[in-house]
Amino acid sequence: MDLLCTCRRCWGRASVNGSPCPTCAGSGKVPDPFLSDFFRYSEVTGTALRSIANDPDDLTLERMRRHLRDLVDPLRVGLGVPLYCTSGYRSPGPRGLDFAVSGPPFDVRPSAHSDGTATDLYPGSPRTILDAVRWILAHESALAWDQVIVEGGCVHVASAAPRTYGEWVQRRHVLVRVRSAEWDAWERTRVGVEPARYGYETYRDDDDRQRSRTV
Ligand SMILES: [Zn+2]
Repeated sequence: MDLLCTCRRCWGRASVNGSPCPTCAGSGKVPDPFLSDFFRYSEVTGTALRSIANDPDDLTLERMRRHLRDLVDPLRVGLGVPLYCTSGYRSPGPRGLDFAVSGPPFDVRPSAHSDGTATDLYPGSPRTILDAVRWILAHESALAWDQVIVEGGCVHVASAAPRTYGEWVQRRHVLVRVRSAEWDAWERTRVGVEPARYGYETYRDDDDRQRSRTV
């Protein structure tokens, strides 16, 4: 029997605009199946912003299953440590979660999160974040991956670029969110990525959004 979780459309309020919530039929709960070997629906659709509907449609759910099965599950097995999803699916559009989380200029070009092809993961420590990058690079030819972004407290892994690029592509980008010159140096030496080969670049908080969207 499937477990239940709070409905991602009405967030347990059971109604939407005065009518019973169409996603949970007014119960406030939905099934919480495993989408892959390791990840349940609730783990990759959660958010603290519970005023925003975040229930993926069937097509997006299928993409999420593939993304988890083909990239995140192998990473989980390879690292041998639990991966905590800090942000998975984010609903698209100007009123969606992706915009609320990312802000402008992401409204113009949504992130892969809104296509169900990206997950932010916390593998337990800064060291294991780098282990995750190394593992993906060591197995890159066997994996479907588009981008790996080392964020401050997590690693963003994406299977494919958003459909807004015109077609699904895998750019093989390794990006590092830089907080200081120190961190920059630390990342470059520890990850050991060849810039030319992987399109490795660093970017700073002031301009990261622009640059990360124009690569
Ligand atoms: Zn509902």
